[in-house]
Amino acid sequence: KSKAQMFDADHMKVTFKDVAGLDEAKEEVEEVVDFLKNSKKYTDLGGKIPKGVLLVGPPGTGKTLLAKAVAGEAGVPFFSMSGSDFVEMFVGVGAARVRDLFKQAKEKAPCIIFIDEIDAIGRSRGKGSMPGSNDERENTLNSLLVEMDGFGTDSGVIILAATNRPDVLDSALLRAGRFDRQISIDKPDINGREQIFKVHLGPIKVDKSINPKELATQTPGFAGAELANVCNEAALIAARNNKPAVDMDDFMQAIDRVIGGLEKKNKIISPGE
Ligand code: ATP
Repeated sequence: KSKAQMFDADHMKVTFKDVAGLDEAKEEVEEVVDFLKNSKKYTDLGGKIPKGVLLVGPPGTGKTLLAKAVAGEAGVPFFSMSGSDFVEMFVGVGAARVRDLFKQAKEKAPCIIFIDEIDAIGRSRGKGSMPGSNDERENTLNSLLVEMDGFGTDSGVIILAATNRPDVLDSALLRAGRFDRQISIDKPDINGREQIFKVHLGPIKVDKSINPKELATQTPGFAGAELANVCNEAALIAARNNKPAVDMDDFMQAIDRVIGGLEKKNKIISPGE
């Protein structure tokens, strides 16, 4: 059985309103929403609707969120799977999962398939760093290529895939008719951070001294996921101190804590550097 998570159209409540900043990326994916909603308009004129769109950018910048919002805006089901879920030790499992995922998706079309960390299966063939597991990964990649070529552009299935390593992807994946479009999702600038704070401060009871712009100036280099984390940590810190509302002091502590967490994570990822 496929390990894909399936969300019905009724449960796709994420919309573009939930995605702060990323204005250019949103504009680009708006086209995808229209492809899903009005595919006939395009195919009647002989247009070929893209099958695959690659979302490229660092972790935590909202790629998954944006993909969900595309499904939410179009009112279609969302199938989600991580590239690493395809990679198994057992021969043939990855390829079978790919086939299964596409079979399910075609039955529910129009719909979105979202593949997070596509680089886990899409690394260029013959250059892998993990001996032994390579053939199996190549099989999985091949079956993904076969599935992508096997459905028509009018099938109503659009695949969004996310990566922060477009440079390692096999060029076969990027060829016309596959992931031939790329949208870059960058870390937010100060204005983007302010917008993201506005979204994530929404459910939080903040002191009236709290100003999203000021918070944005205090968080250079943070991705959206980290800003969301700051808001939640600040609320927890304030609550533990029995405060009636979250104030700037709590936010400053939360920012320190999130920076600390990031430093630890970096140490684990790159030992000895
Ligand atoms: P990864 O590559 O690590 O999977 P990602 O780019 O897919 O990361 P998301 O999973 O979409 O990032 O983001 C994690 C969470 O961070 C979101 O669920 C959301 O709460 C928050 N977030 C990230 N970016 C934004 C944004 N632009 N606007 C609002 N919230 C955001």
